[in-house]
Amino acid sequence: MQHAVVDGKLSGDGQFTQKCHALLENQLGVGKALLTTSCTHALEMAAILLEIKPGDEVIIPSFTFVSAANAFVLRGARPVFADIRADTLNLDETKLEELITSRTKAIVVVHYAGVGCEMDAILEIAGRHGVPVVEDNAHGLLGKYKERYLGTMGCLATLSFHETKNFTCGEGGALLINDPRYVERAEIIREKGTQRSRFFRGEVDKYTWMDIGSSYLPSEILAAFLYAQLEAREVIQSTRKRIWEYYHEHLKDWARDRNVQLPAVPSHCEQPYHMFYLLVSSLAERQALIAHLSACEINSVFHYLPLHLSSMGRGFAGKEGDCPVTEDVSDRLVRLPFYNELTEADQTRVVAALKDFKRISG
Ligand SMILES: *Cc1c(COP(=O)(O)O)cnc(C)c1O
Repeated sequence: MQHAVVDGKLSGDGQFTQKCHALLENQLGVGKALLTTSCTHALEMAAILLEIKPGDEVIIPSFTFVSAANAFVLRGARPVFADIRADTLNLDETKLEELITSRTKAIVVVHYAGVGCEMDAILEIAGRHGVPVVEDNAHGLLGKYKERYLGTMGCLATLSFHETKNFTCGEGGALLINDPRYVERAEIIREKGTQRSRFFRGEVDKYTWMDIGSSYLPSEILAAFLYAQLEAREVIQSTRKRIWEYYHEHLKDWARDRNVQLPAVPSHCEQPYHMFYLLVSSLAERQALIAHLSACEINSVFHYLPLHLSSMGRGFAGKEGDCPVTEDVSDRLVRLPFYNELTEADQTRVVAALKDFKRISG
């Protein structure tokens, strides 16, 4: 942090940004990583790189954060909402193919809670139809699917360094580029539509307006903060593993007895311990549980409201029944407190409060 200031360069793409890029590229084995101002902005860059145009369709899980849809809608695309699997809450690969049409220009997958989507099946279907896959890996940095890091399988992938994620600089993100064809243009789009990145590397002697673009690079101050977090990745991840396993160990019998579903992690996936959630039996039970925890001064939250039933989603013809698993899960999911500073004493209190909760419905 201090070094970023001392070096006198506060704008983007200085030494800390380069260090973050190198660390991500080396750790994940991706060809190119570019820090961005947010995961949302990395998704917007992906939509520009894939040349999404009005009338195009993009397949997106309904059960996700709004940015995956918005980034493509900004370019004029129509979102086509996919339902999720009831176990991992990831895009249901068995229902993917029926959503593909001649207008489908991208498939966005989200590795929910950092547990990998069924990428073999998804990439096979997408490949057969010639549709690029973008991985929204906001939850899943360092997670793996069949020994492969999440974010290395789609042609493009995005990361988030928002405060709520495992590694953070407050607001931030990254675009991971697995298909080298996109690298040169990505650098231009990220630097206001100019080849300023090449100019700074001394590869061209001036820079000028080449393409559409925006200012998608974060300041060195944020990159320095982020680099310190990324350097501490082993400590951070072992802390989060301990938190996740504590919840799992202390809640599994209770969950079985109470018919509460805990996160499912298939044996071929390595999760990065992003969140711990419960699926209770109904909306009423969830509301009662959140109120009960709140009375115990424990803050629990829920997400996501189905995108296809949002006012924007309905504008794209979304209606009840389109994504039944999403609609059901969205009513019943509760996230337990989960952050790096959470102590075992805090967790003991959360577990006790849960066990103290009197269920209100069958
Ligand atoms: C947090 C999140 C985003 C957005 O990240 P920002 O960095 O805040 O733009 C996008 N997708 C998913 C799945 C997220 O959880």
